[in-house]
Amino acid sequence: MPVYLFRCTTCSETFERWRPERRRDDPLTCARGHDTVARLPGLEPREGDGGSGALRRPPEAGQTT
Ligand SMILES: [Zn+2]
Repeated sequence: MPVYLFRCTTCSETFERWRPERRRDDPLTCARGHDTVARLPGLEPREGDGGSGALRRPPEAGQTT
């Protein structure tokens, strides 16, 4: 199961949560109970892509091989 990064826009709490990929955008509450949680990019699962240490890999705009 991949881990996703979430951030509460109310208290600015940032936390990680394991979720099934198809439920990654389900409603979620932070540790303080706010439901204003948004998923952050950067921890998408990248199977078969090495993935050692590279949490963040911005797409190369205009160059898709
Ligand atoms: Zn919160």
